[in-house]
Amino acid sequence: MELLIKNGFVYDPLNSIDGEIMDLAIRDGKIVDRFNERRAEKIDASGMIVMPGGVDIHCHIAGAEVNTGRLLRPEDHFRDFEYKTAITRSGVGHSIPSTFTTGYRYSRMGYTTIMNPSMPPLEAKHTHEELNDTPMLDKATYPLLGDWWFVLEYLKNGSIDELARHVAWIMTSTKGYAIKIVNPGGLEAWGYGQNVHSLGDQIPNFCITPRDIIRGLCKVNKLLNLPHAIHVHTNNLGQPGNYATTLETMESVEDLVSENKPAIHITHCQFSAFKGEDWRTLESGAEEIANYVNCHSHVTMDMGQVIFADTTTMTADGPFQFDLHRLTGNKWVNHDVETETSAGIVPFRYRRKSYVHAIQWSIGLELALLVKDPWKIFLTTDHPNGGPFTNYPRIIAWLMSKEARKATMKRLNPRARSRSLLPSTSRELTFQDIAIMTRAGQAKTLGLDNKGHLGVGADADVAIYNVNPKTTDPSQQYKAVRKAFKHAAYTIKGGKLVVKQDRIVQQVNGSTIWLDLQTSEPAEINEDMKRRFREYWTVEYDNYPVSDHYIESSQPVTVRTRV
Ligand SMILES: [Zn+2]
Repeated sequence: MELLIKNGFVYDPLNSIDGEIMDLAIRDGKIVDRFNERRAEKIDASGMIVMPGGVDIHCHIAGAEVNTGRLLRPEDHFRDFEYKTAITRSGVGHSIPSTFTTGYRYSRMGYTTIMNPSMPPLEAKHTHEELNDTPMLDKATYPLLGDWWFVLEYLKNGSIDELARHVAWIMTSTKGYAIKIVNPGGLEAWGYGQNVHSLGDQIPNFCITPRDIIRGLCKVNKLLNLPHAIHVHTNNLGQPGNYATTLETMESVEDLVSENKPAIHITHCQFSAFKGEDWRTLESGAEEIANYVNCHSHVTMDMGQVIFADTTTMTADGPFQFDLHRLTGNKWVNHDVETETSAGIVPFRYRRKSYVHAIQWSIGLELALLVKDPWKIFLTTDHPNGGPFTNYPRIIAWLMSKEARKATMKRLNPRARSRSLLPSTSRELTFQDIAIMTRAGQAKTLGLDNKGHLGVGADADVAIYNVNPKTTDPSQQYKAVRKAFKHAAYTIKGGKLVVKQDRIVQQVNGSTIWLDLQTSEPAEINEDMKRRFREYWTVEYDNYPVSDHYIESSQPVTVRTRV
């Protein structure tokens, strides 16, 4: 199977290629040096942009939470569906698409790898079943570990090495990829109808603080040599004034940076960048956060951009989702996942004319434009929390064009417009910046060595967009850019042509990437621990791990740890 992509404008930031006209050779699913041109199938990419396949570091697409959202919201699907074709299965949208539809829609935008960010360990099997059913993409998932009872207990006892071995056990048992922390300590407190409000608050029954959880798991992350940093949804998310908590969260691990690897990833930062005392006085805290990130190298973040649309919010942050339900009066689900974590779901519509929503819209873009280094902030909507992932091309247009921002600003709530930092920001991102924020940077911070670039040996995941960077001025012709990124001309997944002119021409499965963590001694699983699994969990210790047969196409990454 040989494929030659000819004459495209190649954007491959990890290999310092910035729009050069080049050919790209593919054999057996990998990028290779030149080969016998006559034998190869050819794609003429003249006048088009060639990039590595898109990588999404944070999108809720599978598992119990997502599936409950699908059940809660039949109205989400009525007007948005996919017909069955000879190649593809039918399915429904809109903000919580069914699994197959999710795969097709990402693929049609040139995306090839996605990360599902919140998996309660107890629901790992369900999550993997749905990931198996999501075609066209390689995928991975992050177990929620910030409020796991055993984690809290080890932290209370100060046993960091033992905690590291335990995290290694749970990561490998649940076939996870990174440590996810959501509102650290707040989810445990929520079990008692409470929350935590600062990094120094006491967590009920454990005599530790959110700061202890963040620092402890950050140390564990290093001991285990995990490819990605701790992936953190901050305390006080969605609350006015929370930018201060975000700054404190980043500061709390400043001293834990090593080997030039980021120590912490702040996810969907927009929701954690609010200044002001209450909703009436809400303002953007983007400048303060960007200033901090510009001066420090231990942080990466993703945007969590808001789109003016109807969507569904879903997080493991139970207390936040309950507050949102009370604020909006919308229907909702809250769920306590035994002794592990919580979750909540509330439908939501972001409105241009709402002061708060318009400020949120502005904050996401301000962060992306004020953080100077595109390797530090990535394009997401926290799908579906800020809006469905199908809106990414819209965000690309806003980032590349002041005119595009202006056109949306015209229709915003006037008070929000007058407070937005965007009119004073003239920065317009380049295609290379976009390649970093939507693939190269995400792959790099995830430690996915074969993704996000087009060097020899990389996975042959490629996106080709029908826009000519020499004759198109994205600043003015942003609609053409948006259209091109919305409807990939070609998507190649693992060396196979899967999308042609926005149509799926071949269905492929994609693999599930997970960490096989090798510790020098195994985690201590004693009788007392097994007893507690029996008493406090509905699933016994022996049934807990996700066995190999659950993963249809398994791609373990073996990591030698320091414990
Ligand atoms: Zn999220």
